[in-house]
Amino acid sequence: MSDDFPVSTVLGYPRIGPDRELKRALEAYWDGRAGRDHLERVGRQLRADTWQRLAELGLEGLPSNTFSFYDQVLDTAVLVDAVPDRYRECADPYFAMARGADGVAPLRMTKWFDTNYHYLVPEIGPKTRFRAVADKPLAELREARELGHETRPVLVGPVTFLRLAQAAPGSPDGFTPVDRLDDLLDVYVRLLSVLAGEGVGWVQLDEPILVTDGGSPAVRHAYRRLAGHPRRPKLLVASYFGDIADALPALAVTSVEAVALDLTHGVPEGVELLRGRTVVAGVVSGREVWRTDLDRARSLMAAAGATRVSSSCSLLHVPYSLRGEDILPGRLAFAEEKVAEIVALAELGPKATPVAAVTGAGSRRGSDTGVQERSAYAVRAAAQRDLNLPVLPVTTIGSFPQTAEVRAARQAFAAGRSSREEYESLIEREIGRAVALQERLGIDVLVHGEPERNDMVQYFAEHLDGFAVTRNGWVQSYGSRCTRPPILHGDVRRPAPITVRWATYAQSLTGRPVKGMLTGPVTIVAWSFVRADLPLRDVTMQVADAVREEVRDLEAAGIRVIQVDEPALRELLPLRKGDQDEYLAWAVAAYRRATGGAGDSTQIHTHLCYSNAAEVLAAIDALDADVTSIESARSGTGVPGFGRGLGPGVYDIHSPRIPGQAEITARLQRALRNIPAERLWVNPDCGLKTRTYEQVEEALTNVVAAAGAVRAST
Ligand code: GLN
Ligand code: ZN
Repeated sequence: MSDDFPVSTVLGYPRIGPDRELKRALEAYWDGRAGRDHLERVGRQLRADTWQRLAELGLEGLPSNTFSFYDQVLDTAVLVDAVPDRYRECADPYFAMARGADGVAPLRMTKWFDTNYHYLVPEIGPKTRFRAVADKPLAELREARELGHETRPVLVGPVTFLRLAQAAPGSPDGFTPVDRLDDLLDVYVRLLSVLAGEGVGWVQLDEPILVTDGGSPAVRHAYRRLAGHPRRPKLLVASYFGDIADALPALAVTSVEAVALDLTHGVPEGVELLRGRTVVAGVVSGREVWRTDLDRARSLMAAAGATRVSSSCSLLHVPYSLRGEDILPGRLAFAEEKVAEIVALAELGPKATPVAAVTGAGSRRGSDTGVQERSAYAVRAAAQRDLNLPVLPVTTIGSFPQTAEVRAARQAFAAGRSSREEYESLIEREIGRAVALQERLGIDVLVHGEPERNDMVQYFAEHLDGFAVTRNGWVQSYGSRCTRPPILHGDVRRPAPITVRWATYAQSLTGRPVKGMLTGPVTIVAWSFVRADLPLRDVTMQVADAVREEVRDLEAAGIRVIQVDEPALRELLPLRKGDQDEYLAWAVAAYRRATGGAGDSTQIHTHLCYSNAAEVLAAIDALDADVTSIESARSGTGVPGFGRGLGPGVYDIHSPRIPGQAEITARLQRALRNIPAERLWVNPDCGLKTRTYEQVEEALTNVVAAAGAVRAST
């Protein structure tokens, strides 16, 4: 046992800044409003403040190299010099990889395990020349030392890095990045010896991939080699987002000194294999915002044989602190408050008492029986014929551009600086503008444009009981982008209709059908912090009931088409294959519960972006929506042939580029090979919120013209 591992630590910490200072500095640098030196200064200050704050709170083990200007996986690519050649000539290769640069596309971005954080996917090929570039960890280490802090450098581990990478374009068939493990290990050995040369005592290697891939031979091989090297600091292998029972036999045959376990997922079977090593107990959740039950945490420590305490994963996934928030007194803990809990637990130490079971007593759990379901699609399609839509109907996904004026007006109203009448008349004017534009362009099923919504989840959270919203609870999503997730803390109820006022106003302006626009139950829980005292499934069913009431009210108010978006359907997919079917079954059930109260003549639409991956296609089909719109303009994925209406996106709204009419026509013709014309819809691939009215008008003109041309030829 290595007794010198600190009694309390965190695996990582937020880095965007308590007031999102890094976001602003990055955007100023990207826009050319500030130089590199300004950005570096802001970064240095944020790191210094973080170390100082952690030390003040009494935390013993301070991590370093957890800061990043964009993403820790991208930093790791730089660390091992896995920079694809196309970026090397760019003025700033780091940000070119992150965001693209004149004519050079960025690296692909995807979700970090099952979190809402997104990382950049490294490209590794047979010819990638790895090389140790230790500048960043060394600079942070020295910077901390100058401030009087001895730190533990944190690196993404080699197995996780390669497993998250993709084969570089042009790699031969059958090549996978893990084929390069031995070459990469040479570089990690070198990095470890450089850090040892600097007098570093401990290094943390993050290997969350152990949760899904723990049993793979790569794990044993990598840690035998790294730990077997004579010139190295002591190693803490940190895993999180699940239990690593499968990896324990492999780690147990290495001489790794310490292992950090995410005990919020329970104590892994076989934990006794770690006897003789330091076990770091991740008992303070880095994913939830609730105060830790200290008794329960102490029993988990005892059961795992742990004497050291940590967060379950990096605290990157929670906001900085509760300062300035006045919600849910006594119930919440953000990063700073969690650090205080870790320090307290380290003092209290383990205590062997039985771990109490999670109970949800007293909560309302939506019952599964007696909920009306919809008729068969053919019956519904017949009942919807009087909508009188042309073949290849054109529609949009919901939002229209959000102008600075609308955002300012929303803030003024929220701050009490303007009256409800003023605010609502502005919203009505925006709706009028969006409706008039859609009529002029010849769109068939209109939307009101969502000007009243700050965000598709937060807006509903603000109008449902059981949710709280923070003032400053920002969490990094990717690069400079942050979200402020609502907190679902109690039973969810809908005190009053939410969207009916705006949908009916829009419908009063036009003879064409207006789509009511709702966010689905799965997406609402996926993008919120959720209560821990009820299974997620039950929480989602409560939200589904609230959405169901809204669907009924829209219908009763004369809205004939209702879209219930589920862009996050795939985001909650469990990491382990074996758990996925169960999740998909209840996610689909929640959606059908939300929409199943609609009559046959009401047309239900759904929309998903970046979800059309193979593992969820069957579930999307099972949602049983009358019309499904999916992203496809960007990924270029083939169009699956659902047996109901389908709208493959024909306009990539994530890019300022305007698609030409010919290009859209070609896409539609390609789609017609899989879907008969009676069931093909024409739409952009997501909401238009981030575009300008100018771009939208030009692009939609081409969309309508292309639909017309294809209609004429079928
Ligand atoms: N209806 C939403 C919008 O148009 C959908 C957004 C999304 O799918 N992310 O903005
Ligand atoms: Zn979308």
